[in-house]
Amino acid sequence: MKKRVAILPGDGIGPEVSRATVAVLREVAPKHDLQLEMHECLAGGTSIEENGQPLQDDVLEICKRADAVFLGAVGGPQWDTLPKEKRPEIALLQLRKQLDLFINLRPIKVLDCLLSTSPLKPEVIAGSDILIVRELTGGLYFGEPKYCRREGPQEVAVDTMRYCSTEIERIARAAFEASRHRRKRVTSVDKANILATSQLWRKTVERVALDYPEVELEHMLVDNCAMQLVKNPKQFDVILTENMFGDILSDEASLLTGSLGMLPSASLGTSGGLYEPVHGSAPDIAGTNLANPIAAISSVAMMFRHTFHLEKAALTIESAIMKTLAAGFRCQDLPGPGTQILGTEEMTAAILEQIATGS
Ligand code: NAD
Repeated sequence: MKKRVAILPGDGIGPEVSRATVAVLREVAPKHDLQLEMHECLAGGTSIEENGQPLQDDVLEICKRADAVFLGAVGGPQWDTLPKEKRPEIALLQLRKQLDLFINLRPIKVLDCLLSTSPLKPEVIAGSDILIVRELTGGLYFGEPKYCRREGPQEVAVDTMRYCSTEIERIARAAFEASRHRRKRVTSVDKANILATSQLWRKTVERVALDYPEVELEHMLVDNCAMQLVKNPKQFDVILTENMFGDILSDEASLLTGSLGMLPSASLGTSGGLYEPVHGSAPDIAGTNLANPIAAISSVAMMFRHTFHLEKAALTIESAIMKTLAAGFRCQDLPGPGTQILGTEEMTAAILEQIATGS
């Protein structure tokens, strides 16, 4: 089997975790008769520096032709003052929209060996296993009009939250489908007591639920969900939610695992897939070999699972990560008694060694 992968390292720690990604792809693919053609391209701030724009048309074309795209991270303080249409984050939003990647899967699984590294109590988080299914191409991040302008004596900014029933229905189906292979429970998160978009969301999700009688559906307001995630995370199986709520809740939920450096994601649509760690470019630790590469490496496991349909390869990677952590190796974001702290490169090498012995 031959597949094309576009690698967009991006900014900050993006290139460091992307090196880990490429190393794992090179190690695992041949063992599963997969021939990979990898194209590395600029995106985000590095592309702005080189070409004056966050995502060039030819890079977008390469991504459209690829079977899968890996993105490290984009953004950084040096580009924060640029007008919004020129900022590095536009690369990511454009990719999601242009590739029609409306499903964002963010699995959060608490590992026993990391129970003590979360700021939350071990007895609260033990056994938590959540899949956040976030709508990715609608809502406040994409709605028009969107502007900031002077009106009389002051500046006024407007963002538009817009959803249509088709957008809600397709993401709801993705959540119900995912839950059928899990504990068959969907918590749909909205703000239906205030927002019109949430009222449509709730009505549409309830209609979709009729096609999945074996799956239990509950609705939860987003403010309550933010609280329940730290109070009793074990109650959740699949969390289905819109774009911005999913963005915020998944960063919060990452703390169950101890660090944002642990959380992978897959963005899927009708074809292809974009795989990226949930974290950003972490400018505070960029270039220091301190970044945890596990979120990026777990995103590769998701690529093997969802795009290449090689479940065994995905499990090999996930098991190698677990064995490495169980052996006491950590990056600096997950310190703990009796552990050995490794840099990005050394952690990648330790995981590669486990992959080599495990396969
Ligand atoms: P961030 O995720 O980059 O960092 C938040 C904190 O988590 C920092 O203290 C950082 O050091 C730490 N952290 C993140 N990833 C880590 C890892 N792998 N290992 C160890 N520690 C890690 O969020 P931020 O600081 O709010 O944003 C920085 C930049 O990243 C901004 O420009 C933002 O727009 C951008 N951003 C990009 C993406 C993306 O590309 N998908 C996502 C979020 C933020």
